[in-house]
Amino acid sequence: MSANRDPHLADTFAEAGRKVGQALSDLLDSIQPAFDAMASAANRPEVQSVLGRAERLLRRRPCLCFCSKAHPEDQSICEMFDAVVTGQHNSDLLGDVGIPLCAPCAAARAAHEFASAR
Ligand SMILES: [Zn+2]
Ligand SMILES: [Zn+2]
Repeated sequence: MSANRDPHLADTFAEAGRKVGQALSDLLDSIQPAFDAMASAANRPEVQSVLGRAERLLRRRPCLCFCSKAHPEDQSICEMFDAVVTGQHNSDLLGDVGIPLCAPCAAARAAHEFASAR
């Protein structure tokens, strides 16, 4: 019976296998760029800078200056999420309490206090 075996059967299997293999490798090729894009997106400078900014923002302290009261002439200078110093806030209720202030607010408060102390 072996003489009647289709001599092309092996080729047919090989061909089928090759096609499946080709289809799989095509599939992987078409997926690969998406993986690469995701992997490289995380390393892109703009993505890094957004992530870094979000991280810095989360680590930041908000400025708790009452701008409209503390320095009414310079209310727009406040860097609301960039408190760098702890200032003294004179509260009638709590006395002197330390509150986080951004640098421009601290300077404006000092100037305002200096101006009003004269
Ligand atoms: Zn302020
Ligand atoms: Zn401020």
